[in-house]
Amino acid sequence: MRLVACRTCHTQYDVTSVVDAEIPCRCGEKIENRSFDGIEAQVHRCGSCGAQVGADALSCEYCSSEIIRDDAQLSLICPECFGRNAEASRYCTGCGVGFRPQQVEVEGVELPCPVCGCLMPVRAIGGLGINECPQCNGIWAPENRFDHLVTQACEVARKAGPGASFAASARKAGANPYLAKVVYRKCPVCDAHMRRANFQKRSGVIVDRCHEHGTWLDADELEQIAGFILEGGMGAGGERAYAMKTELNAMRRREAAALARAIKGESMTIESARERSGNGGFLSMLLKELLD
Ligand SMILES: [Zn+2]
Ligand SMILES: [Zn+2]
Ligand SMILES: [Zn+2]
Ligand SMILES: [Zn+2]
Ligand SMILES: [Zn+2]
Repeated sequence: MRLVACRTCHTQYDVTSVVDAEIPCRCGEKIENRSFDGIEAQVHRCGSCGAQVGADALSCEYCSSEIIRDDAQLSLICPECFGRNAEASRYCTGCGVGFRPQQVEVEGVELPCPVCGCLMPVRAIGGLGINECPQCNGIWAPENRFDHLVTQACEVARKAGPGASFAASARKAGANPYLAKVVYRKCPVCDAHMRRANFQKRSGVIVDRCHEHGTWLDADELEQIAGFILEGGMGAGGERAYAMKTELNAMRRREAAALARAIKGESMTIESARERSGNGGFLSMLLKELLD
């Protein structure tokens, strides 16, 4: 988890999956979204209960939690003193501040769905404000947020590496998108007909784009794009695509569906696995989904 804190009101925010350079604090202040290296701080507090502990203590006298000192496990950086802490810590072992991150508020306005016309509320997907239709489950990614989503998904696929044992593709034999009935959707902002574009020219996933305002994805298209990326369709690891042809179709579709759910932040199993310690970021959820 990556945290930042407001210098004025000290509200903490989970910015694990936030790409914006600056985030708005609820007090009105702007907070710079940057990563810190973290410093080795002397241990004064128990990371579990916050009680005072001796500098050399191996466990807490009060709650008997282990005091973790193994640097490899100290991945959570305190946003107040920049001391390194264990990922699951509830208090900073250096300065004693409690870790209680808030979700970053995402920007956006309700818009009418280009398919069914009902209002699409804004929700955070991968730390970005995305409109999702409650009826048809289509997704409207305003401005260039679609590209951010794809970048994040690619990054996850890259990190997982070519040896990762996942497979995903929602593309099925005979599903030629050019044979399907063509419907030109209208942009929910300017009402002009959107341009239909084959994602990455050869994915076979047709997305609708308004150059000015954003990208529309029908309900299963995010899933299909996820499948295309994981197959190596975006470049790196293209050899995987061939190996995966031997995978069972059903399994591939299930995995792609899970990935799409993870992208949308819907996978309950992942959330519960993170013990709801703050909110699992997009990348951590996606990584977990891919690596499990
Ligand atoms: Zn503030
Ligand atoms: Zn304790
Ligand atoms: Zn601290
Ligand atoms: Zn709809
Ligand atoms: Zn438009």
